[in-house]
Amino acid sequence: MLWDVTVIGGGIAGLSAAIAARRSGASVRLLEAAPQSLRGGNARHGRNFRLMHASPLCYVPDRYDANEFLDELHGVTGAGTDPSLAQLLIDGSETIAPWLIGNGVHLQPPGTGVMPYSRRTAFPLGGGKAMMNALYATAAKLGVVISYDSEARALVRKGRPGWTIEACSNATCETIEARSVIACAGGAGADPDWLRTHFGIAAEGMMIRGVPYANGRILTLLIDSGACPVGDPATGHIVPVDARGPRMDGGIVTRITAIPYGLVVDRSGRRVDVTDAGAQPTHYAKWGPRIAACADQLAFLILDARGMARAAPSAFPPITAQSRADLAVALGLDPVAFAGSVDGFNAVPPPSARPIVAPPLAAYPMRPGLTFVHYGIKVDDTMRVVQADGSRHDNLFAAGMIMTANVLRRGYLAGLGITLSAVFGRRAGEEAARYVTG
Ligand SMILES: Cc1cc2nc3c(=O)[nH]c(=O)nc-3n(C[C@H](O)[C@H](O)[C@H](O)COP(=O)(O)OP(=O)(O)OC[C@H]3O[C@@H](n4cnc5c(N)ncnc54)[C@H](O)[C@@H]3O)c2cc1C
Repeated sequence: MLWDVTVIGGGIAGLSAAIAARRSGASVRLLEAAPQSLRGGNARHGRNFRLMHASPLCYVPDRYDANEFLDELHGVTGAGTDPSLAQLLIDGSETIAPWLIGNGVHLQPPGTGVMPYSRRTAFPLGGGKAMMNALYATAAKLGVVISYDSEARALVRKGRPGWTIEACSNATCETIEARSVIACAGGAGADPDWLRTHFGIAAEGMMIRGVPYANGRILTLLIDSGACPVGDPATGHIVPVDARGPRMDGGIVTRITAIPYGLVVDRSGRRVDVTDAGAQPTHYAKWGPRIAACADQLAFLILDARGMARAAPSAFPPITAQSRADLAVALGLDPVAFAGSVDGFNAVPPPSARPIVAPPLAAYPMRPGLTFVHYGIKVDDTMRVVQADGSRHDNLFAAGMIMTANVLRRGYLAGLGITLSAVFGRRAGEEAARYVTG
């Protein structure tokens, strides 16, 4: 069969593209490398997404206007964001929640349960996994043909009809023909060799917070065949995670959030600090790279009983001891250096913390956890992939993390990842369908 649209990757970008293309009248095949039980890409781990709105809605309070959104985006990414894609993102964010709801996603009323107040973001009911299950159910109902365990390994331009894609499940490969292709295969952050090339020694102890399938094969394949790279392969969103978690796909629950209440030491027991990290949620992204720079990419958060009382529940229990000396032994630290670090911290604790005195003392071992890399391929306003020579194919599109660096060259805003992938995925699906239906 000749497909109108073949979508590579079944994360939030791929599902949004597939649903939008199918709703616009195209026949759609979706290839997902993961097995069905692990489908959904990194949005499985997501909590919330960012949206512009002029007045309160049943899923987000207050207002968050376009200028504020744009200012905040510029604030984190600085120069280098593509202005028209940034505008398309913000405009598209205004309608993405009703579009997701129309495709079966349920959103949580704001401020209920344990959810924090947020006027910038909406929270899918049941989390990202429930959202992705709903989108998969809708795609299947609309007639999108979904193949799991199906990794696209080659993409060849074929004049007419368009493209051939080789998709493999273990040793069995299939050749698929398509009039257009939308690449939604995510970034390259899950390939340890690729990370080592670009992050050097820091990659050795790095944990990959997301799916192991976003291995950059499609990104590399497109760049090797002439697509224009954007961004910096050696920068990423990196946050502290519990060193005892899985190397890959640990998700959001292994993130360490209590650093503002305690002291951080490296594996020799010496104090590690980030002067401007503060206690805002943005402190995570400042601590991640700092831990990556520590010996063996390992550091320890030290809290006392009062710090622990303020800490959010954690996936792994802390390592505890009744005294500094016992904790140093439990963590394998130099007791003298560690005692000196605690004394120095207690003499002038940061404004968000108190001296570490009340037993039991507690520690979390931490490693840098990579969320994504600020690197991808260039696209134009129609989501068509732009070649390094400035040309583009009419029928090759990309959306989601694979092109995020067009908008976000560095830094991050909470909830931007899902919004970006959903908004641009939807747009790519509509544009691909427009191409095939004339
Ligand atoms: C732990 C964690 C928590 C997060 N929390 C949030 C949050 O709360 N809010 C937010 O907005 N963002 C969050 N993000 C970021 C957000 O999840 C991502 O930006 C977004 O999900 C990216 O979607 P995507 O579809 O573009 O790519 P991905 O989610 O990476 O999906 C790519 C898909 O393509 C598949 N694939 C890869 N290669 C191939 C191939 N060759 N053939 C076939 N399939 C392939 C993969 O299996 C995967 O399913 C979080 C990310 C992580 C890791």
